[in-house]
Amino acid sequence: MSKLERFFAGPELPSPCLAVDLDIVESNYRLLRESFARTAIYYAVKANPAEAVIKRLKALGSLFDVASLSEVELCLSLGVAPQHISWGNPIKKESDIGVAFARGVDMYAFDSHEELEKLAQCAPGSRVSCRLHIDEGTDSAVCPLSAKFGCSPITAEELMVRARELGLVPHGLSFHLGSQQTDVESWEQAIAVCAGVFRRLRDKGIDMELLNLGGGFAVRYSHDVPRAQAYAECVHTSMRRHFGNHMPTQCIEPGRSLVASAGWLRSEVLLIADRRDRAGGHKWVYLDSGRSSGLVETVNDRIVYPLYIPNHEDSAMEDVMLAGPTCDWSDIINDGVLRQVPTTLKSGDHVFFTHTGAYTTTCSSVGFNGFAPLESFYI
Ligand SMILES: *Cc1c(COP(=O)(O)O)cnc(C)c1O
Repeated sequence: MSKLERFFAGPELPSPCLAVDLDIVESNYRLLRESFARTAIYYAVKANPAEAVIKRLKALGSLFDVASLSEVELCLSLGVAPQHISWGNPIKKESDIGVAFARGVDMYAFDSHEELEKLAQCAPGSRVSCRLHIDEGTDSAVCPLSAKFGCSPITAEELMVRARELGLVPHGLSFHLGSQQTDVESWEQAIAVCAGVFRRLRDKGIDMELLNLGGGFAVRYSHDVPRAQAYAECVHTSMRRHFGNHMPTQCIEPGRSLVASAGWLRSEVLLIADRRDRAGGHKWVYLDSGRSSGLVETVNDRIVYPLYIPNHEDSAMEDVMLAGPTCDWSDIINDGVLRQVPTTLKSGDHVFFTHTGAYTTTCSSVGFNGFAPLESFYI
């Protein structure tokens, strides 16, 4: 029996609830650590900001990428050193920058002129990285980020020159190729673009130190994805090809790939309704967890979590539509995908969504339709 199976077999738990096995988080970290040798790892806290996760990763030597002042405060409160925190979100409230800077945080991302001026004002002398817009080109990322963030290489050059004038340290470049990015080769193109910016800035006397390769490494949900080693090899080869012997320090900011596979969300069947009397109808299974209780990434079928349904091992299987418990029309779990469940499934039975350690707890509502936020346990 795995640790998660033992946990769920134990004393009564609220429903739905999530449990995260910290040993799996640890082995995910170790795998990335081995694959990306000599690359600093900043855990993207937003994927799962539980204290237990941060503590375990801190003990392993991880650094932290944060998205807001409260994530800064959270990391500091758990004993993370301010110089081990990078504020990677290029959209920050001005007063929050000042508070973080006063606490000792001195690594910030930006991607616009105005944000750079804010940093010069509120975090004078700090190390700044410019986030580049890299067109993902394909639809290989499940959650693309290129629309919202990043500037062009030309603008990055101008902004870095400006950063130096403003007394900031032009520290490096960053990019993020989209979450659950399965196209390993997309790093090659991004690294080529960055190498050009590094070279042209070096010609202007600005020698940047850091290339931030972002997060986005894919997790094996319901489909095969490249292994960590494959990403690392592509990065390594591309770095050598494009940077030659002017190699900057490198870092990555994984979120999903460190925590997703460590979590199981258990929900309970509330109702099974046969709607095959309607044209094109299905059998529907209504659960006590849905889009507002942690499964928001199932919207548009971006993520299809594997199911684990114990105690029905000998049953035949059938296709059903899964849905959450609310009155919300959109509260359907993967509305384009029928899922296979045992024909013997009945109300009160448990359905597990595995690989739910990332982007679930904090993406659950605080009480939509009166349903409580997703409870979670770290074991
Ligand atoms: C969300 C985010 C990450 C983590 O992305 P994953 O796909 O979860 O690995 C890393 N860096 C930044 C700047 C982010 O916004």
